[in-house]
Amino acid sequence: MAESQSAIEARGVTKEFAGGVTALDRVFVTIRENEFFTLLGPSGCGKTTLLRLIAGFEYPTEGEILLHGQDIAHLPPDKRPVNTVFQHYALFPHMTVAENVGFGLRMLGKSAAEIAKTVKESLALVKMADYGARKPSQLSGGQQQRVAFARALAPHPKVLLLDEPLSALDLKLRQAMRGELKTLQRETGITFVFVTHDQEEALTMSDRIAVMSAGKVQQIGAPHDVYESPVNHFVADFIGDTNFVEGQIEKLAGDESIVRVGEGFAIETRLNGPHKTGDKVSVALRPEKIMLKMPGAASLSGTVRDAVYVGTGTTYAVALPHGVTVNVRDLNSLSGQGRFAVGETVSVDIPAGAARMLAD
Ligand code: ATP
Repeated sequence: MAESQSAIEARGVTKEFAGGVTALDRVFVTIRENEFFTLLGPSGCGKTTLLRLIAGFEYPTEGEILLHGQDIAHLPPDKRPVNTVFQHYALFPHMTVAENVGFGLRMLGKSAAEIAKTVKESLALVKMADYGARKPSQLSGGQQQRVAFARALAPHPKVLLLDEPLSALDLKLRQAMRGELKTLQRETGITFVFVTHDQEEALTMSDRIAVMSAGKVQQIGAPHDVYESPVNHFVADFIGDTNFVEGQIEKLAGDESIVRVGEGFAIETRLNGPHKTGDKVSVALRPEKIMLKMPGAASLSGTVRDAVYVGTGTTYAVALPHGVTVNVRDLNSLSGQGRFAVGETVSVDIPAGAARMLAD
């Protein structure tokens, strides 16, 4: 509809299953046209349930789901302009690759010429143009998943739902396929709704991410927003590595607020959420944003308790005053050595702007 730029809108969607399970609890999500939108959260948070509601395999207990502005409650799955790719490619083993890709088109009653043309285009899109005559058993896992993408894209759905489609592949292939999938989305202009519990996958591919927990949407935003400005403890913890330091608000001044951990240890932080002076709060600190320096170079001093080599750098556990220990990610020297040794005293600089005060 003209008034809506949204591809999908979930309005107050609740889904209860028999046995008192509330899989979704008043979920509001708007997915824009042509965007790569990811539902991210731990196992059991309700992401697959939301996908299945959009696909029409389940119906909401309450609330409604709109597709391009129209309520789709009455539309059965096969009448929705939506297609799904699952974790396991589910190709028909007795059919060739080309027959698999053409299957949906045959069901739609397309002509043989049209099917042949679309199959060719779809296979070219996923770089499988030369594989049409093969059977699925003659393909690698990654190639089979590409064919599954081609099959799902062939009928030109308005929305493609992807339920952890990369999780059956090994790490290297999964990483390579992330880029391909993103390119596929951009080239086709189809709205992708991607489900994953892998935060790195979500951060690298998505235009926007909905972070979910226990049937609720915790935050919706671009990868940069959810990483840099998590709204609460759950999001900060689930996305990336985070140190949580407890303290009390000493000064409230927007970007220059101060949280005191104890004598000689205060953190300058950005206010995030409604607070008043004296409130006890958590401050989230990303390990790569804390800086380690030679002793005396900063006002805060700590002791290196542990050093873990992680290839691109070293993660140090640094003991600070008042029983606080933080993890710090530091780049190694050119020869691959860590800069500090266990037991060494270091200066710890927590730059203003590196810390986020959390609402809960
Ligand atoms: P995963 O990553 O493990 O697939 P998820 O975030 O996709 O998890 P859902 O599959 O949506 O989670 O499940 C959400 C909750 O609803 C879980 O507690 C699950 O056990 C429950 N659930 C899902 N389907 C049903 C069903 N058909 N009957 C009863 N409970 C269900």
